[in-house]
Amino acid sequence: MALGEFDLIARYFQRPGHQLAQRVVLGIGDDCALLQPAQGQQLAVSSDMLVEGRHFFSDVDPMALGHKALAVNLSDLAACGASPLAFTLALALPTADATWLGGFTKGLFALADAHGCDLIGGDTTRGPLNICITVFGQVPSNTALLRSGARAGDEIWVSGTLGDARLALQARLGRIAVPDYALESAQQRLDWPTPRVALGQALRGLASAAIDLSDGLAGDLGHLLRASGVGATLHADAVSGLLACPWMPASERLDHVLSGGDDYELLFTAAPQEHERVLGAARQSGVAVTRIGSIEDQAGLRLTDAQGQPIKAQLSSFDHFL
Ligand code: ADP
Ligand code: MG
Repeated sequence: MALGEFDLIARYFQRPGHQLAQRVVLGIGDDCALLQPAQGQQLAVSSDMLVEGRHFFSDVDPMALGHKALAVNLSDLAACGASPLAFTLALALPTADATWLGGFTKGLFALADAHGCDLIGGDTTRGPLNICITVFGQVPSNTALLRSGARAGDEIWVSGTLGDARLALQARLGRIAVPDYALESAQQRLDWPTPRVALGQALRGLASAAIDLSDGLAGDLGHLLRASGVGATLHADAVSGLLACPWMPASERLDHVLSGGDDYELLFTAAPQEHERVLGAARQSGVAVTRIGSIEDQAGLRLTDAQGQPIKAQLSSFDHFL
């Protein structure tokens, strides 16, 4: 690299002039960072890696990539109801390209600052482009939202809309032709996901279980159901209605939304008597939530139409090793 490793870290990641939060006792520059969580809180820790050609195209806007690399990690904190504290960044770069680094850090730090989440360390090496972020959050002891808490009778909720990111991905892969007017907003959802951090925190003590939707509704709900030892029935119309894009034919919506991916919305369950409080938490967090079904004792995932009749759908989801 024309720019040395340490110059690069100092110039792009250390942010001279930036005031670190008080809980960051020590930031970038020593062998370890030191982080002081508040009294009575547990640390919530999560890592997500983005690999070129696997999670993003090589021509992606570096600013969007910086945003997304942190957003997918904040989404995991959101799913646990944790509030962000700080993050580390392990980065393999083919070259020290000033334009790329400038764009990447602009997108990264805009989202970091919006959540008061400081970069406190990391590692930088030459190699095929690979971005790994570890995020640290805090959550009042024993209040974290888990996948394992869903119980028969609970309502199943989803925040925001689903399926647009997958629409953009499939259009890019040439698998479907999407008109321009629909593509723009879909592309925005793929490149600039919004982690539902405020909603996750508002659901503490309210939701019985939660997971963030990264690999598709059917698959991620499956994880939650297995962890909780329960099953579910979803209302097909409610699921199809989650797709924001007005363009897709009605007959294709259900399968598309179920197998989605890259949405970074929250899927959660709550007892029916909490229905109004769930709606209140969503309003307070500035995101809509939709009830899409119910938890049942019988294992497995079922779908019903508007008349309550069972219907068949392809229940697939994204798996990196399939
Ligand atoms: P070490 O050799 O102890 O692993 P390094 O020399 O790799 O430390 O890094 C020097 C300092 O810069 C450390 O504090 C490390 O956390 C920080 N750092 C390295 N790469 C990054 C990065 N991409 N983002 C933020 N901090 C980084
Ligand atoms: Mg190192």
